[in-house]
Amino acid sequence: MMRLLRPLLASVALCSALPLPAYAELDVIGLKSAISASLQSDYPKLDALYKDIHAHPEIAFQEVKTAAKLAAEMRAIGFEVTEKVGGTGLVAIYRNGDGPTIMVRTELDALPMEEKTGLDYASRDKTTWNGREVFVAHSCGHDIHMASWVGTAKTLIGLKDQWRGTLMFIAQPAEEIVSGAKAMLADGLFTRFPKPDFGFALHDGPFGYGTLSYRVGIGSSNADGLSIKFRGRGGHGAAPQLTIDPVMIAARFIVDVQSVISREKDPTEFGVVSIGSINGGTALNIIPDDVTMTGTIRSFKPEVRAKMLAGIERTAKAAAAMSDAPPPDILIAEGTKAVMNDPAVVATAEKVLKAAFGEKIRVTPPGTPSEDFSEYVNAGVPSMFFNIGVYEPERVAAARDGTGPQLPPNHSPLFAPVPKPTIETGVTAMTLAVLGAFDQHARGK
Ligand SMILES: [Zn+2]
Ligand SMILES: [Zn+2]
Repeated sequence: MMRLLRPLLASVALCSALPLPAYAELDVIGLKSAISASLQSDYPKLDALYKDIHAHPEIAFQEVKTAAKLAAEMRAIGFEVTEKVGGTGLVAIYRNGDGPTIMVRTELDALPMEEKTGLDYASRDKTTWNGREVFVAHSCGHDIHMASWVGTAKTLIGLKDQWRGTLMFIAQPAEEIVSGAKAMLADGLFTRFPKPDFGFALHDGPFGYGTLSYRVGIGSSNADGLSIKFRGRGGHGAAPQLTIDPVMIAARFIVDVQSVISREKDPTEFGVVSIGSINGGTALNIIPDDVTMTGTIRSFKPEVRAKMLAGIERTAKAAAAMSDAPPPDILIAEGTKAVMNDPAVVATAEKVLKAAFGEKIRVTPPGTPSEDFSEYVNAGVPSMFFNIGVYEPERVAAARDGTGPQLPPNHSPLFAPVPKPTIETGVTAMTLAVLGAFDQHARGK
């Protein structure tokens, strides 16, 4: 099958001087069936890998066993693997002659939450995080990405007579706390290893399996972490006049901060602030000394972000001042910037992906979650980040027209991708995107 395809690609090279539309001769359908044949034999192993990783998730910067599993898989395929890049990250390189270096990235980390899917491979694992024992679950589907990443590597090696260049497969720690990409870059990702000419990454989402979505330009949001400590003066719950109540201040802030979104920000621009944790107090009759809270601030545009940060800080100070409390400790930590998809990389990939997936590929508005894949883009790697669906299309349709229940999104304890069609789509789409980029580059020379 693979040998049969060779002449088709060769004919593309010969025809490249003719004014034909790009990819007129690239046999995407032939390649798709070669990928599908390769998946037929590889899938059982990918399924076992996926379920093993799913059942034994590890959170940010603790992904030691997960990284070791991927390192073993990649060495077995023939990649040269370097471990412990940026903490627990991996870099796997495969050289196959002259040509561009193409990066494919997966994340390694899971989330500190309890899985409630009831699947027979559901996680029951726990770990210690910020001094507390927590459950761990792959509720963002990074395990799907890892299985697709290994499957793509294997498929591309099987098709190595179809491309020339270097594959740089990286497995990144700590995406959920948007720190792992920075850690890998700080540890010499683009100096100790080749700096990629192009980069690709995928993320799963709660739409139909077999379908893909992508965006040119902004693809995800700016993320900033918010941490506030409101100080009061503790005392007896029955004698509030002798105290400064930080619970009251915190409650006021949580409500009032949403007016920054609804009254200060331009309503036509995207911006969100969500308080995700609040901690204070020990007993029903004690007013505590302080209350701490953390939250996330999301935006697309820098000017909207700046306006929100100023409004949030002012609101926090004002909430404390209203109770005559000391100024709060406010920490706004820049997380990561929005992912910008490169128009040329997307244009090349979309021709191949449209030929393979037809109607099942769509252009979507920017997503409101954030992604530290932006770090690689901002370090100068033109890239494409795209999404793949995970649920039965009939269930997605029923949820959409209200005849069936809503389907659990990423970060829900019930998030449960259907493994086979999801991973197969991930492998097929990523393999084709990479082959398209190699081919385009070869013909552009
Ligand atoms: Zn996530
Ligand atoms: Zn994720």
